[in-house]
Amino acid sequence: MFSLNVLYFSIIFAAQTSKSEIMNVNWILIIVIGVVGMLVQWKLKSVFAKFSKVLSPGGLTGAQIAQKMLNDNGIYDVQVTCIKGQLTDHYDPTKKTVNLSEDVYRSNSVSAAAVAAHECGHAVQHKEGYAPLRMRSALVPAVSISSKLSMIVIIIGLLIMNVFPALFWLGIAMFAMVFLFSVITLPVEFNASRRALAWLQSSTSLSEKEISGAREALNWAAGTYVVAALSSLASLVYYIGLGSNRK
Ligand SMILES: [Zn+2]
Repeated sequence: MFSLNVLYFSIIFAAQTSKSEIMNVNWILIIVIGVVGMLVQWKLKSVFAKFSKVLSPGGLTGAQIAQKMLNDNGIYDVQVTCIKGQLTDHYDPTKKTVNLSEDVYRSNSVSAAAVAAHECGHAVQHKEGYAPLRMRSALVPAVSISSKLSMIVIIIGLLIMNVFPALFWLGIAMFAMVFLFSVITLPVEFNASRRALAWLQSSTSLSEKEISGAREALNWAAGTYVVAALSSLASLVYYIGLGSNRK
């Protein structure tokens, strides 16, 4: 997801060191991507709200959709569970659980079907050993540390740039890892949605009209991942520029 933290720190740095033209252009780019990110998030929420009101008459709930899609793909060792919160739905490969938020779990709306099938798309990826998902899972431990510490390492690195420049570049390497993660997330997410829509169609779980609604909702969800990747790329370029300026 798009990180407001990145934007926040970028603004602070920009205010301090808006010396060169290139840095200013990059700073503007980060702001623009930040605003686009917020608009995409807002659109995603409104599209999901719209299609959560479009009920599939006599259709299956999100939980039933998930169970059916798993079984149709020969998956019997993955649990479908109900979790708290909104848009908290995710597949957990370590516990082998498709975790659906309460709204998705119980509802027979087009949104619920789309989300449930998407999360099962990840379970199918896991079963098939889909390479981008394997890479993404392998990066999780390093990325969870890097995303927490990279910013502080970059800041301290900038402060002691003249004495010990290696620290700054360590911070950059850590942030590059976060960027790489956001890029690998793209094929994983697009592919899960593609699998979801193909199954919803072949299993006739949704009508043609309902499937186009599900596609619209999933496309906006994918949009948030594209914005997140662009945002971390812009930030990465910006931080590298900061270090180069200080030399
Ligand atoms: Zn996903």
